[in-house]
Amino acid sequence: MASSSSGSDQYPTVLYGEVPARALAVYAHPDDPEISCGATLARWAAGGCEVHVLVCARGEKGSLDPATDPAELARRREAEMEASGKVLGLAGRRQLGFGDGELPDSAELRRQLVAAIREVKPQVVLCNDPTAVFFGDTYYNHADHRLTGWAVLDAVAPAAGNPHYFPDAGPAHQVESVFMSATLEPNVWVDVSTSIETKIDAVLCHRSQLGEGGDFFRDVLHQRAEDGGRLAGVRYAEGFRRLALGG
Ligand SMILES: [Zn+2]
Repeated sequence: MASSSSGSDQYPTVLYGEVPARALAVYAHPDDPEISCGATLARWAAGGCEVHVLVCARGEKGSLDPATDPAELARRREAEMEASGKVLGLAGRRQLGFGDGELPDSAELRRQLVAAIREVKPQVVLCNDPTAVFFGDTYYNHADHRLTGWAVLDAVAPAAGNPHYFPDAGPAHQVESVFMSATLEPNVWVDVSTSIETKIDAVLCHRSQLGEGGDFFRDVLHQRAEDGGRLAGVRYAEGFRRLALGG
């Protein structure tokens, strides 16, 4: 259920005010959940939701410095995820351990995602919108984001809810809705005015990715949430393309 609010004609401005009992955010890289939907996760966790995060890759290529040791960076980023998870108030954190840029478009990846969905039993799954490829004239979406987004959608339905898919990966579970972030077609907004600072604190735990740019990131994240808030009619908001599965 969602409640309507007024807004522009260009975007539907439906504010989603519910807090699910359990949510699972599935993303490619260690800092993706925080950047993509961290304020929503923090708001839901503060509201009593059991929030779990699953990260598919190790993040070991998250450096342009040829002297960086990838294995060392992966360990550092795991510690950053741990710290960030505490800030967000996560109930659980999982990592599949694939190499950056090496996520397989495979039944094995989908099986692992289905196993996590069936274990956590979330009402809501959050992931990247895999159809969002080109953002303006200067950026296109990372292959790992696109691939993870499709794999999550395929794992959610039909696989997780059908006992004949991956019968060894736990009893079937029906996910009620999917929230896709980094979308070009948002249809719901979550008012994150009370949790934007928690999101920013969580993003800033990923120090290996910030360089000296903590203040810069803080400004960018405020700005993005403010842009969303303007469209949603609140101070700060995160937008999603929401699919209500089964109506
Ligand atoms: Zn990423």
